[in-house]
Amino acid sequence: MLSIEKSIQAKAYALGYEKCGIVPIHKLDGYEEKLKERIEKVPESERFYQGQKRLLNLNNTYPWAKSAVVLALSYNKYKVPEQVKGHIAKSYLFDVRIDKNSVEYNNRQKFEQYLGKLGIKAENNKKFGIVGMRWAALQAGLGVVRRNNFFYTESGSWNHIEAWLIDKDIELLEEKSLAPCPAGCSKCIGSCPTKSLSEAYTMSPTKCISYLTTFGGRELYQEPLAGKFGDCIYGCDICQDVCPMNAKEWKGREEFPGLSEIIPNLSPENIMSMRQEYYTAKIQPKFFYLTDKELWKWQVNTLNYMDNQYKDEYRKYILKACESEYTQVRNMALIIIKNRLLAV
Ligand code: SF4
Ligand code: SF4
Repeated sequence: MLSIEKSIQAKAYALGYEKCGIVPIHKLDGYEEKLKERIEKVPESERFYQGQKRLLNLNNTYPWAKSAVVLALSYNKYKVPEQVKGHIAKSYLFDVRIDKNSVEYNNRQKFEQYLGKLGIKAENNKKFGIVGMRWAALQAGLGVVRRNNFFYTESGSWNHIEAWLIDKDIELLEEKSLAPCPAGCSKCIGSCPTKSLSEAYTMSPTKCISYLTTFGGRELYQEPLAGKFGDCIYGCDICQDVCPMNAKEWKGREEFPGLSEIIPNLSPENIMSMRQEYYTAKIQPKFFYLTDKELWKWQVNTLNYMDNQYKDEYRKYILKACESEYTQVRNMALIIIKNRLLAV
């Protein structure tokens, strides 16, 4: 008969998870030191990391918790639609955290029910994590953190990490066989357009395109880094795409449920003419970092893209954006007109 630890792991594998480890929560304490180190290296990141402090002293919030079950799930099997390649980061396209259409979402429910059947009290935070996720995955032996700060398993960095706090004092270290980053490699650092990733394991989160095009970048029209976003509209994969450790890891054979229905509406032109009702019903629930009041942010990001990758066809969308009901969209359009269209 399998031990409780091995039974949990076997269930996770049966549900399609790539990795499963269990770590006592006192072994997550080092996260506080890690956070401190990050702030010392990049002092301007202090405000950004304030929110992460909820993940320290876990027993103050969850006095019953003894261990964390940590799982990794790869999304490298999904096809990236051509129309959004390079515009929308893959982890957001294949975000299974709240997408009820996905097999992975339903399997998560099944995993949770299984913990319940074993008599285990378990709690997680679907959207934002209940522990420092990469740190917990590292302690549970699921993989490694590479110089670009992403967490890698044998399937590369294309993974979602999930974690539950549980009321059982158990431990199970997962197995891994991962080579370190090649000596002298700094492709990820060299490729970062905004220099957010400035050296190995060192980044300024508020300079990262993934932050500035989602829950940050509220005043993008006056953000000096906006001109460096290139093709990116929502998120950025550049420092993962260039990584040799990811080179053969994208399989891309399966359709992600429901994606083909919304993709045509995520072309730059269609984002600019998107109606609020459609955004609320179809786009926001999938890309939840922006609220249903923030269609304007998608449009500001798209105007910025149109400016960065300017073509004559975009002119009419930029001019039309001056009549937008959203102040931020009008501001962005006016800046582009002043700097680009009136400058010629
Ligand atoms: S995600 Fe993009 S902007 Fe952020 S660190 Fe990586 S390359 Fe730089
Ligand atoms: S690009 Fe090179 S240095 Fe950066 S994470 Fe990948 S292997 Fe490591």
